[in-house]
Order: sequence, then structure tokens, then C-alpha cells
Amino acid sequence: MKMKLLVYLLLFAFTISSCLHRCFARGGMQSSILSGDFNRSSHASYARRLFLDFNSVTRLSELAQGYMTNDELGKAIKEFGVRCSNISRIYSIGKSVNGVPLWVIEISERPGEEDAKPAFKYIGNVHGDEPVGRELLMFLANWLCDNHLKDPLATLIVENVHLHILPSMNPDGFELRSRNNANNIDLNRDFPDQFFPINEDENARQPETRAIMNWLRDIQFTASATLHGGALVANYPWDGTQDKRTNYYACPDDDIFQFMARIYSHSHYNMSFSKEFVEGITNGASWYPIYGGMQDWNYIHAGCFELTLEISDNKWPSAAELPTIWKYNKMSMLNLVASLVKTGVHGRIFSAVDRRPLPGSIMVSGINYTVRAGKTVADYHRLLAPRDRYEVMAIMPGYKPKSTTISLNEGPVTFNFVLDPEDTIKGIEFADIFWGVHLEVYFALIVILGFLCLIFKGRMKANVLKQRQSGGAKRPAMV
Ligand SMILES: [Zn+2]
Repeated sequence: MKMKLLVYLLLFAFTISSCLHRCFARGGMQSSILSGDFNRSSHASYARRLFLDFNSVTRLSELAQGYMTNDELGKAIKEFGVRCSNISRIYSIGKSVNGVPLWVIEISERPGEEDAKPAFKYIGNVHGDEPVGRELLMFLANWLCDNHLKDPLATLIVENVHLHILPSMNPDGFELRSRNNANNIDLNRDFPDQFFPINEDENARQPETRAIMNWLRDIQFTASATLHGGALVANYPWDGTQDKRTNYYACPDDDIFQFMARIYSHSHYNMSFSKEFVEGITNGASWYPIYGGMQDWNYIHAGCFELTLEISDNKWPSAAELPTIWKYNKMSMLNLVASLVKTGVHGRIFSAVDRRPLPGSIMVSGINYTVRAGKTVADYHRLLAPRDRYEVMAIMPGYKPKSTTISLNEGPVTFNFVLDPEDTIKGIEFADIFWGVHLEVYFALIVILGFLCLIFKGRMKANVLKQRQSGGAKRPAMV
């Protein structure tokens, strides 16, 4: 009996001591994290090791196993640039907080050149802990390189679109296995918002956000998509609502956004069969409103029709599943880019006087949204859902607007606008008055003037003769 009691006492003492040890260790860990000094005491560092060993390192390294590290991704992008140099170029749009370059691959028949073709962009890994997109975008780039001039869809994209691919917008977040960037900011809440004045100060924004905003000042994108994880749905604007309620909040181009979202979901292996979202698409605000998002900013400020694509229910699927997820998304990714040239009305705007390109704008009757033409070649790409009739108008300050009616039931339409300058129109009317309608009056005036000149000349001659006959003029007397 005494022995039993002793054993119980020993067990009780051991439990208390280990409990005290763990409690002390957790406190030490917290204070050391707050102070930023992880090695201040042996207990603190031990506790941190415990925490990392059992909760982070093992789990996170398992998560990322088989995924490219940031260095490996940078290397893969550069290798792609060498392998596919005939149809691509590699460039960086800036650096992350920790100085990782934000590499972009442009795929096009003439990369880097300004022509009358539309531009599309894909952005992956906006959230650091959603890495499937960055891997899939490398699959996409390589597939296009391998299938150009072999597969019709690959050839169509390479020859008709400038496709820009940013595999990772948030390489620091990926490294940290965190949704946010290295400053712990959610990049998809860091853009200026249409309803609430957040992030108005450009200098206060994150370097990754600024890089995207400057990128859109340099290149005029017609449409784009960002790749996320954690659900399976194609999300379209608006993302936010004025009253902050969760409601369907349609933007002026709701029809074409739904159309584009359906292209993605119906080309996908199983997105359109979603039980949560009808046809696998959703208006952002009707799902959950967000503010400071990239999607709405693209549409409002950059004339770019952007979708937010949730491409995998599991944020960190095993890397072995990536080829399958690529197969599920491949046709969606290709068809969405191809939709730029398979729908809508496209063309250029010219001056009627000298045929020079005019960087005007395109408006569509009934849709409160203006699409700008390119600054250099004045090409426009107005995405519109198939419909019987659209009235499309080109405008340019100093020129008379011109409109045309088109049908988009049979596919895309190409239409070049030639605008008359307002002052030339007045000039033509002025010329009409004097050289057209009243030409005979003008001619009669010339004849009368000529006749008067002859009479005047005759009289002058007669006066000179009279003076000669009378001995010329008398010299005035000197006084
Ligand atoms: Zn996300």
C-alpha cells in the first residue's frame, strides 16, 4: 500500500514539473518573439525549437515538398526564356519586400513589340500559401512553347495575343508559407478601393502592389486572371459592395464577365459541376465582399477585365497531384486567353485627314464603361458577350464621334473607325460656299474687278499724255 502511494506521489510530481516546464517555455517563447530575440534564454530557444519542430518545420517542409523554391522558379523562368527565345521574353516588374525579382514571361509572336494585338496577363501566387497557380503557369508557358505551330489553339494564342505570365506575385509569402507578404499585408486588400478611401497613399502600398500598378501603366491589358486556391470557382466583379452587405453587386459589364467566367468553368474538368456555385461561377460580392482587391481595381482604373480564379479546393495539394490539376485547368486557361480574339469587337481608330492613329475611346450604347484605344497604334479591343445588336461608338476630343451597329452572334467583329476632325469639317463647308454653291458669284466679282482695273489704267494713261502736251509740270519758285 505504501509502495503504491509512493508511486502515485512520484507520478504526480513528474506531471507537475513537466507542466510547469511547458508553461514556462511557452511564456518564454512569446516574450522572445515579441522582443524579436529568439536566443535570449535557453528556455526560449528550446521552446521555439519545440514549436517549429513539431508545428511548423515538419509540416511546412512537407507541404512544399516537390514545389519549386523561389530560386528554382527564377531559374526555371530564365531557362524557359532561353529555350523559347523565338516566341518569348523575360522581364521583371519589380521586387518583393525581401528583394526577390517579380519575373514575367511574355509569350507572343513578337514579344515586347507594340502592335494591334490584345494583351492578357495571368498572375499566380497572390497569396503566399496558395502555390498551385505558380506551378500551373509554368506548365502553361511550357505547353505553349512546345505546341506552337503544332496545336491550333497554341498557335492562335502565340500569333494573336501578347500573353504575360507572372508566376509569383508574392514570393516572400510563399517562402514564409503565409497568405500575406513579408510585411504581413494581404496583397489582395492593398489596392485603392472604389467605395472606401483606403490605400490612397501610393507610397504606403506594398512594393508588390506598386509593381503591379506600374506594370498596368506601361502595358494596356485587355483582360487578366489571378490564380488562387482554397475553393473551385471563377469569381468576377464587383468584389465589394457600397453597403458592405453580402449581395450580388453587378458591374456595368456583368454580361461579358459572366460569359468569361463560364468559359473558364465549363472548359474545366469539374468546376461547372459545383454544388456550391451555380455553373462554377460567382459574383465576388455575392460570395463575400472584399475591399482593396486587385480585380475591381483592374477593371476601374486599368481598363482590364480581370477574373479571380479559385483553382483548387486544397491550397497545398501534394506536388504529385500538380500534373493532374494542370490537366483539369489546361483548356480553361487556354480558352480564357483565346476568348480575347474569339469574342467582342476589335479594330483601330484613324484620322480621316492623314490616316494617323488616334488614341480615342470606345463606348457601347447601354453600358456605362469606356475602353481606351492603345496610345501608339490606336488599337481597341472591346470584349462583349454574344448578342444580336450592339451600337458601338468611337470618340476622340477634337473629332466628330462616329458609331456603327454590329452583331456578335457569329463571332468577333473587326471594325476600323475613321474620324473627321471638327475643324476640317468647317473648312470643307467654307470651301463649299466659295468654290461650290456660289462659284459664279465669285467669278463675276473677279471679272468686275478686272474691268475696273482696265478703266483706271486707261484714265491714268490719258492724264500723262495731257501733261506732256502742256510742257510738263512747272518748277516751283524759290523763296
Ligand atoms: Zn487567395
